[in-house]
Amino acid sequence: MERIFESDSYARTATARVVSCIQVADGFEVQLDRMLFYPGGGGQPEDRGTVGGIPVLGFRKLESGEYLHLLAQPVQGEVELVLDWPRRYDHMQQHTGQHLITVAASAEFGLKTIAFHIGDDVCDIEFDAANVDRARLDRLEKRVNERIAEGRGMRITTADREAVERGEIRSRLLPQHLEGPLRIVEIDGLDRNTCGGTHLSNTSELRQVKLLHTEKLSRGTRVYYVAGGRVLAQLARTLERQDALTAALQCGPEQHMTVLGNMLARSRELEKTAKQLLLELGRASAEALIREPGPVVFLHRPDGDAEFLRAVASAVSDRRPDLVAILVAGQAEPPRGGAGGGSDRAGPAGSFAVVGPEEKVADLGPRVRDLLDGKGGGRGTLFQGKAGSLKRLDEVKRLVS
Ligand SMILES: [Zn+2]
Repeated sequence: MERIFESDSYARTATARVVSCIQVADGFEVQLDRMLFYPGGGGQPEDRGTVGGIPVLGFRKLESGEYLHLLAQPVQGEVELVLDWPRRYDHMQQHTGQHLITVAASAEFGLKTIAFHIGDDVCDIEFDAANVDRARLDRLEKRVNERIAEGRGMRITTADREAVERGEIRSRLLPQHLEGPLRIVEIDGLDRNTCGGTHLSNTSELRQVKLLHTEKLSRGTRVYYVAGGRVLAQLARTLERQDALTAALQCGPEQHMTVLGNMLARSRELEKTAKQLLLELGRASAEALIREPGPVVFLHRPDGDAEFLRAVASAVSDRRPDLVAILVAGQAEPPRGGAGGGSDRAGPAGSFAVVGPEEKVADLGPRVRDLLDGKGGGRGTLFQGKAGSLKRLDEVKRLVS
């Protein structure tokens, strides 16, 4: 079967003859006498397009090495093949970018490429290095972009397996089962590499490569990049985020970090102040509680938290060790309507604490916890925990009388 994508990666249309068309669970599997579409592999995603006007949904590889096209509708006879060219050309740019990055990384730093992948927005290459820092990325990026500007021609040739074994040709994964001449992708005066994907015919068509960021892996480092048309797309996304920041921070991009730094510092200060005020409020609340006759008193503070409750508990325990205080923080839920149903339990609703003489706390603590559908425990004069629901807060309140 002729593989047009291997000999001419720029062919966008072709005619083919339907060899077979068999109905399967998810459509029709069609074998053609010629293949225009790249069926995926080696890090490059499969092509899309139409066969006789019917969109190609995917491919299935046969044991013979041939491929079936999966279509939603049956086709027969002579059919016109039309490639989704923008998608393919993008893949050709990203894939060719990988060749140039791999060659430069090997020449500049002796880095070996161990994997490559074209994603929807960004691509990545894995190197056998523990770390690739920004300085190296910058050097690599500069060298790759020089190669692009040199406008080096690229072509497909063949070589025998021995040439690879003699080290004349670079090869990442040489399939053992392949016989006959190997397909070689050649970049003028730079590189010869075994590869089955689709590539540009001149490095200048790449226009530009931008190395983005890295990610540590157990077996090496992954370097993210974009090539060709994706560089502008990436820049557009970056500018969109920058514009959103400009609007939100109400200052130009050069001031973003200063303004954000100030905001964060101010926010940390406010948090500290809020915490301090909450503690003071806790002590003040305790003052009011200890004036109540007792023996059991109750306090609910919707905007309080566990720390606030501890402040109240500690003050009550200092001033009136004879008093039992039931303390609850968190928003009480609005009463549920009869219809509608829905989940009985939401996330943690708040906090609770019971403070007082040991034997009273041992009795009331677990009862409060159960009424609040909570979790927690304690020993001695303090029992505290998280409340799952404040729906039965009224029953907790009634423990006072
Ligand atoms: Zn390739």
